[in-house]
Amino acid sequence: QADTAMYQAKSAGRKTLMFFDMDMQKQADKRLTIHNALRSAIEKNELLLHFQPQHMVKTGEIVGVEALVRWQPEGKMMISPVEFIPIAEESDLIIEIGYWVLVEACKQYMVWVKQGIQLPQIAVNVSAKQFHHVDFVEQVEEALHLSGMEPSYLNLEITESVVLGHAEETIRKMAQLKEKGISFSVDDFGAGYSSLSYLKRLPADELKIDRSFIRDIPRDASDMAIVEAVLALAKHMGFSVTAEGVETRQQLEFLQKQECNFYQGYFASKPITGDAIVRYVKRLKTI
Ligand code: C2E
Ligand code: MG
Ligand code: MG
Ligand code: MG
Repeated sequence: QADTAMYQAKSAGRKTLMFFDMDMQKQADKRLTIHNALRSAIEKNELLLHFQPQHMVKTGEIVGVEALVRWQPEGKMMISPVEFIPIAEESDLIIEIGYWVLVEACKQYMVWVKQGIQLPQIAVNVSAKQFHHVDFVEQVEEALHLSGMEPSYLNLEITESVVLGHAEETIRKMAQLKEKGISFSVDDFGAGYSSLSYLKRLPADELKIDRSFIRDIPRDASDMAIVEAVLALAKHMGFSVTAEGVETRQQLEFLQKQECNFYQGYFASKPITGDAIVRYVKRLKTI
């Protein structure tokens, strides 16, 4: 009888293993399919940018926009960057996509200028692999050159993972770009592997508090304490602070009380097209 039980366990184990393998295989296939389709997405004009307004907490004034990439394959549903950026990051595809985003964001900024809208900044997300690529500084210079945008309007968002294991190189590259007038934000602050000793040396201008710390305000007392602590830290270290993912009036009121500088979130606007930004800004002016 003991033998039978063992046999059953073994076969069940094997079965489980088989299912597990199939799942992994399916996932790998899906990633490969996405990777292959993504490779031609730029040529096929399937990438596009949306822009999310950034506002001053105190006055509601618009202080900039963040460019967020989307993928619209023909005849298919729009694909979120959460799905395809990690796949692009597995190869050099992210370098190409990152460059495309930089150029398009700067060009769009200049289109807005021609339409009479001069925003204080446009923020562009930069992945770790892209930042560390040997040509990154040239990529940025090229985007500015092609668009004719002044470097001081460009804000680059990097995550804490950029610094990991590359502290010296990161600081050097950031300093090089900052010299040109470009500013830096630390995206998703608090959600990654923060090291306060690196933060001390990082020539960043701004911290963006991760959405996960804003989401449950005012229900979660710990999150409120974390936000307060980050604001105090940032103030003493000379960083400005943007709160991400503000969805409610209560959250904004909390940030007002805590003297947070800027916010982004559905409470103001979801990410929208470049044309919609024009209407958005014009509407703000009439309020
Ligand atoms: P992120 O840079 O932290 O961007 C903020 C994300 O939060 C955006 O998602 C935005 O739509 C979403 N969001 C903003 N406000 C709210 C809110 O009030 N509630 C909720 N629930 N969500 C909000 P999105 O556009 O899907 O982008 C996701 C991530 O993909 C970005 O996070 C960024 O890490 C990455 N990503 C997007 N575009 C690029 C890009 O051009 N290059 C790179 N390397 N990464 C990008
Ligand atoms: Mg970002
Ligand atoms: Mg973020
Ligand atoms: Mg992010």
